[in-house]
Amino acid sequence: MPEPIVEIKNLSVYFYTYAGVVKAIEDVSFDIYRGETLALVGETGCGKSVTSRAITKLIESPGKIVNGQVIYHRDDGSTVDLLKLSDEEIREIRGNEIAYIFQDPHSSLDPLYTVGYQIGEAMEVHGKVRNIKEGIAKAVNILREVLIPDPENRVKNYPHELSGGMKQRVVIGIGVANNPRLLIADEPTTALDVTVQAQILELLNELKRKYNATVLLITHNLGVVAETAQRVVVMYAGKVVEIGTVDQIFHNPLHPYTAALLRAVPNPLGKIEKLESIPGTVPNLITPPKGCRFHPRCPFAEERCRKEVPKLKEIEPGHFVACHRY
Ligand code: SF4
Repeated sequence: MPEPIVEIKNLSVYFYTYAGVVKAIEDVSFDIYRGETLALVGETGCGKSVTSRAITKLIESPGKIVNGQVIYHRDDGSTVDLLKLSDEEIREIRGNEIAYIFQDPHSSLDPLYTVGYQIGEAMEVHGKVRNIKEGIAKAVNILREVLIPDPENRVKNYPHELSGGMKQRVVIGIGVANNPRLLIADEPTTALDVTVQAQILELLNELKRKYNATVLLITHNLGVVAETAQRVVVMYAGKVVEIGTVDQIFHNPLHPYTAALLRAVPNPLGKIEKLESIPGTVPNLITPPKGCRFHPRCPFAEERCRKEVPKLKEIEPGHFVACHRY
C-alpha cells in the first residue's frame, strides 16, 4: 500500500469579491503518496493552483479556506492538520519541509538582492545555516546542483543578469535549498522557451531522485504529465473529476471531461488522429452549474446530472471518477 505524505480532505476555498462569492474549489479530496510525482491537471481557472496553495494556507484575502483538512504525515509517523497550525507554525513548514516553485521566475526573485543572497536567506530563515554569509557560501553548491555554469561567479549576480531559464533554475535552487519532503511545482515551465522547458523538467526529475522528494506538479500540459508523473488528478471547475495512474488516465479515461481534454491536445501516449475542441465554455464559479458542474458541456448529461453532485467512486484499483455513468 502506498503511504500518503499529504491527505487533502473535503477542501473548499472561496473568494469573496464584489461580484459575488467565487467557489474556486469545493470538496476537493485526494492523497499525495510518498516519493511519487502527482500531476494536478485541468484548464486555467479549474482550481489547481488554489488547491496547491491552500495546502500550506497560502490563500490571500479576499480568499478564504472555508472547509477541509490537510493531513500531513511526518517522518516519525505523527500527523498534523496543516490548516489548524498558526501562521508562525505553518511558516516553519513552508519553504522548509514543503517548498514551492512558482510559474514565473521573474516575479519569484527579488531584483534588489543577488541570487546567492536569496538562496542563502531561504536557508537562514529555517536555521539551516548560522548566518547569511554561510548561506551564500552554500548557495554556490546549490547553483552547481541546478546546473548553473560558473556558480562561484553567478552567485554574485542579480536576477536581471540571468536568462529566463537560469532564473528558473535559481528558483528551483531556492525550492530545494532546505531539502524539502514535498516540492510543489506550479506550472514551472510555462513561462519558458520550449527548448528550456525540457531541460528544466529533466532537472526537476533528477533533483527529485537525488533528494528523494515527493512532487506535486501543477500543469495544463499533458505532455509534461506523461514525461514526469506517476499519477494524475484531473480537476474541472473547482472539483476533482478523476484520479488515476498516468496509464489509466491516458489509456482509459473514464470521465467525459478527461476524455474530451485528451482529444483536445496531442496525446503524448497515443496516436494523433484529429484534435477536437470541448464545446461550451468554462462555467462561472460564482454561480456554478447545479449537480455535475460539467453537465452543460457533457454529451451524456441526463436529468440526474443536472440535480445531483456525483461523488468520487473507485472503479478499478486506484482509478476514481466522479460521474453518474459509473
Ligand atoms: Fe456527464 Fe453526467 Fe457524468 Fe457529469 S455526471 S460527466 S454530466 S454523464
